[in-house]
Amino acid sequence: MATDPCRCDAPGRATLTKEQALERLLARVEPVDGTETVSIAEGLGRVLAEPVTSAINVPAWDNSAMDGYAIRHADLAADAGRLRVAQRIPAGSSGSALEPGTAARIFTGAPVPEGCDTVVVQEICEVAGDWVQIPLDCGTDANIRRLGEDIRAGAEVIAAGTRLTPQHLGLAASVGAARIRVHRRLRVAVFSSGDELVMPGEPLGPGQIYNSNRFMLFGLLEQLGCELVDLGIVEDSLAATEQTLLRGAAQADLIVGSGGVSVGEEDHIKSALERVGTLELWTIAIRPGKPLAFGRIGTTPFIGNPGNPVSLFVTFCLFGIPVIRRQQGVAGDLRPPSLRIRAGFDWTRPDKRREFHRARIQIGEDGAQELAVFPSRSSAVLSSVAWADGLVEIPENQVIHKGDFVDFIPFRGLFG
Ligand code: AMP
Ligand code: MG
Repeated sequence: MATDPCRCDAPGRATLTKEQALERLLARVEPVDGTETVSIAEGLGRVLAEPVTSAINVPAWDNSAMDGYAIRHADLAADAGRLRVAQRIPAGSSGSALEPGTAARIFTGAPVPEGCDTVVVQEICEVAGDWVQIPLDCGTDANIRRLGEDIRAGAEVIAAGTRLTPQHLGLAASVGAARIRVHRRLRVAVFSSGDELVMPGEPLGPGQIYNSNRFMLFGLLEQLGCELVDLGIVEDSLAATEQTLLRGAAQADLIVGSGGVSVGEEDHIKSALERVGTLELWTIAIRPGKPLAFGRIGTTPFIGNPGNPVSLFVTFCLFGIPVIRRQQGVAGDLRPPSLRIRAGFDWTRPDKRREFHRARIQIGEDGAQELAVFPSRSSAVLSSVAWADGLVEIPENQVIHKGDFVDFIPFRGLFG
């Protein structure tokens, strides 16, 4: 983009803040085309393409909020609150109109009989045979859930762009929506660049390491509800990288890579993308995870994450997940949700870049929640992300003292 001052990889290149990088990424991707109709039983985690509206009033009729006696309040005056119990209305049945001077035994959820304006809870009533004694001071117009009080027929109950939780499925079911229109699943192609990589189960040769990124990315993408295309391990060569990008573009809505995004001779993402598509290589002022490549092969976007597993995890959480949510059709604010929580640590040597350290909520000495950071700051320590339940965001150049409030991005709010 001609107006984008950061589309450069030359020395002295501009760096972006986390917020700028995310804004740019989100401006470059769109929800994928294509929807399907599924039963609500298959709706968990799917993104609504059309709103769920209610064809019915909820409740569908005035009904009792309590187990008790349905009465016409004005009838109490005649015989000092003594009424004959003339009918019984359990949930699932409907009674007949209240005759003057009578009460109906009624249960929670049952429709109130015609003429009833009050349900009196059973605890304050005295029953003797077919008669019930109702306190004269019981309130009128009480314990009745009114027709349409919760949802009016025709109302939108779940908006398009909502990612469906179990609560949404319950809500859809409550208005009788058996089938819903959702965006089709996003297909994401994944590859790992690196001649040193070996799959678990294979023996390690000299200089080789196991491909951990593939498994983290697959796990993340599965939790995000994506369909996966496995492009495997890609050797550090221009030809293999080009071919992989083209294969991914032919099969997927998004390509996610790890490794090879720097500008060393063994890093081929940049050149390959320039040959088969377009590239924007961004330097983001965060630690870990400085370089992030974004590109396009035809219409298929590509995100190139750093190879270092911790950096990959952080950049994928901060940037990859919002991009995926946008492509999936999720509406609204896609920034990773964070919360303010008390630091249970001191951070005395801040960096000039924003830092994202692996952190976990624990109970402090005073019994209140606070954040602990993983003892090693090294971004090569993968056990730190397994230990953590989120990322603490440490502002650039800022010293943190135990007890200060800091931003924490829980993994739970991002995926899963
Ligand atoms: P790169 O971004 O390709 O320069 O890789 C940076 C570091 O991450 C190197 O130490 C690589 O060996 C390591 N690395 C790259 N890809 C993976 C992977 N898929 N699994 C584990 N480590 C990796
Ligand atoms: Mg490499």
